[in-house]
Amino acid sequence: MGSLVTALASFCDIKQRGGDWFVRIDDIDPLRIDPNALEHITKSLAAHGLSGDGPMQLQSHRLTEYAAARDQLADLCYFCNCSRKQLQGGRLYPGYCRHKQTFAPDHAVRVTADHKPRQFLDRHKGPYPFVANEHFGDFIIWRRDDLVTYHLATAYDDGHTHSHVLRGEDLFEMTAPQLFLMEKLGLNPPEYTHIPVLAFPDGTKLSKRTHAPALNTATPEANLRNALHLLGQQPPKATFSVGQWLDWAITYWRFDAIPQALAPFSEADYD
Ligand SMILES: [Zn+2]
Repeated sequence: MGSLVTALASFCDIKQRGGDWFVRIDDIDPLRIDPNALEHITKSLAAHGLSGDGPMQLQSHRLTEYAAARDQLADLCYFCNCSRKQLQGGRLYPGYCRHKQTFAPDHAVRVTADHKPRQFLDRHKGPYPFVANEHFGDFIIWRRDDLVTYHLATAYDDGHTHSHVLRGEDLFEMTAPQLFLMEKLGLNPPEYTHIPVLAFPDGTKLSKRTHAPALNTATPEANLRNALHLLGQQPPKATFSVGQWLDWAITYWRFDAIPQALAPFSEADYD
């Protein structure tokens, strides 16, 4: 349900503004990707009538572009092989490897953060000022096992491909380092909107990992109505088809009705 809520919000929001909606799958980490996930997402979106204006975009298909982006940042980067233990869970990287300018195997690529004050405006959460070397410090853009990191891949895609990004606020903190990378890559950042994510009463995000109930794709009409309700919209008690629900949702979509927190999932949401 959590991913349907975010997908539906971004769909309604961009469609009401006359834009195109694209689905991007962030599938760069082979260790964390369930091989059935792609099929599952595709089926679930299709069951709810949510089809993208263009093919689904897979980050795993852009590895060459990400490597080029990494090389473009070479002057700002150094190689690092610090272990987790060495860093002892410190919040900011202490800079032990800053002198390592030559490639070596089994080293990550770390980008140097600067002290320039920056700010971005989130459409839902408002202005967010940040200073790179205080907020996130030097961070890894390429892993020691030779994989692009989520930060670099996402910064590249957001700056390169998208004009508007609407996603769950669990990704809000990631925005500042990604904007930093976009600026260094000379890319124009999109407009960012972070909306609340569906959470258990204790604040844990609803996901497969936290054993949230799976979305029943056999009841897409009820799911859409339920998702709209959670998003603070006021869906009528109607027996609409999937297409009629989406038409209603785009027509009556009110961005400013999205609540500051989404009510926890309960049976009552199926009223
Ligand atoms: Zn290091």
